[in-house]
Amino acid sequence: MTSNKKIMILPGDGVGPEVVDETKKVLDWFAKNQGLNFHIEEDLVGGAAYDKYGVPLKDETLADAVNADAVLFGSVGGPQYDNIDFEKKPERGLLKLRKEMDLFANLRPAIVFPALSNSSTLKPDVVSGLDILILRELTGGIYFAEPRGIENLDNGEKKGFDTNLYTTSEIERIGRVAFDLAELRNKKVTSVEKSNVMMSGVLWKEVMTNLHAVERNNVELTHMYADNCAMQLVRNPKQFDVIVTDNLFGDILSDCSAMLTGSLGMLPSASLGNKDEKTGKRHALYEPVHGSAPDIAGQGVVNPMAQILSLSMLFKYSFELNKESELINQAVSNTLDQGYRTKDILSSDGKIVGTKEITKNIIRNLDELSR
Ligand code: NAD
Repeated sequence: MTSNKKIMILPGDGVGPEVVDETKKVLDWFAKNQGLNFHIEEDLVGGAAYDKYGVPLKDETLADAVNADAVLFGSVGGPQYDNIDFEKKPERGLLKLRKEMDLFANLRPAIVFPALSNSSTLKPDVVSGLDILILRELTGGIYFAEPRGIENLDNGEKKGFDTNLYTTSEIERIGRVAFDLAELRNKKVTSVEKSNVMMSGVLWKEVMTNLHAVERNNVELTHMYADNCAMQLVRNPKQFDVIVTDNLFGDILSDCSAMLTGSLGMLPSASLGNKDEKTGKRHALYEPVHGSAPDIAGQGVVNPMAQILSLSMLFKYSFELNKESELINQAVSNTLDQGYRTKDILSSDGKIVGTKEITKNIIRNLDELSR
């Protein structure tokens, strides 16, 4: 069923190759036990590509990624690249992929596994059972729109300025993704802006309201100001299902929601492009939220769960393999319930184990769940 589907794997730098190696074991498990065979390609990206080819992303690698059905990305970067040319820095490889694949929709789920409800800085009853999704517009808005710059003023001062700009079609395309995602979940979208003080926010709200009325009134839509949303995320995060917002507010609110879960090592993400009308194919890149963690790279202690959960998102959003995606989530959850912990999520009653042993237990749980 899946053998004609291509997954491009780009492990990257630091802990990237370590967590990707563990994730490949999970992919192998699905090949062996459930007949899920993908066409897999692998290449260098980031500092690893710079070391070998002098660039963080070769044109051929980019073309292969664009042609793939999904990209599984590790992480890039490291202090050894701090002083190289800006355009050759490892992170430029990732940014180029996002731009060329037009990955405008960034999905960050914030899920609190039952065994980790004590890891959050919030009270367990506020976060336990939490399962929300922040959808951030990733390629427009204030980080890209012109005019922007720093200019000299006649009075000797300088002025620094940016523009927050969204067009109707940019809002509609992220809005459609939000409604699509909500349909797979609890059918609730909260659209977040500041239409009380920003004209781009007035348009955002108007377009979302129209889109909902014309195309998607089977999903509940509510509107919320971004400052109130930040407050509600820490007061009562379980009121949300899908939150959709612009690039700037999404940057801030997704970091805030990430911390509800307590650990960087548990957080997957997906970045999606538009669906091709003819082929139905959607460009997509899946990666953990964390970086290359050079401080622990090569020590066998990194938590591989964020990367393995990124594969679960890949199954769900690129291949509609919902049962298989849920199987991975359950195997991760059971592994945590059984007390297995890497250092970053250690609890007083947990057993501290290394990267490989965590994966071994996830695979044992996959075996047990599928018996
Ligand atoms: P980081 O996410 O790499 O690490 C922050 C801290 O969290 C470190 O102490 C690290 O050891 C710990 N940590 C992160 N992931 C972990 C995991 N899975 N298990 C256990 N502990 C984990 O962020 P940083 O230190 O600010 O950045 C390091 C490098 O990564 C930089 O070069 C940065 O540019 C790059 N970076 C890359 C990406 C990406 O590839 N998407 C994202 C963020 C940062």
